[in-house]
Amino acid sequence: MDCLFCRIVSGEVPATKVFENERLIAFNDINPAAPLHLLVVPREHVATLNALESRHDALVGEMTRVAAMLAEERGYAERGYRAVLNCNSDAGQTVFHIHLHVLAGRRLGWPPG
Ligand code: AMP
Ligand code: ZN
Repeated sequence: MDCLFCRIVSGEVPATKVFENERLIAFNDINPAAPLHLLVVPREHVATLNALESRHDALVGEMTRVAAMLAEERGYAERGYRAVLNCNSDAGQTVFHIHLHVLAGRRLGWPPG
């Protein structure tokens, strides 16, 4: 399958990994939109949020908890951070393997553009 994040999961494409376990990896975004910009990615290929099934519930919960853990470890728990999942074109999804963005280190606008 021609999927960039599957290639990062397999090690075929390098990334600056900051976390990994049997189900997830997290790495630095190559084009950071904030001083901290991590991506939390399941090893399993799931193309968009629209493809989630009930069997993924624990996986998505773990993605969220790992995002919070990584932000906390980096000192952003108190001042805050944002965790974002984009789905399809109106949200600007460009890589069709689900990933949780973790953004921190500057004041983030709301609502998003
Ligand atoms: P999205 O637009 O929500 O699909 O987010 C995709 C993200 O992947 C963007 O923030 C990109 O900067 C990031 N990205 C693309 N290629 C790479 C790569 N090789 N390594 C790390 N992050 C990447
Ligand atoms: Zn994939």
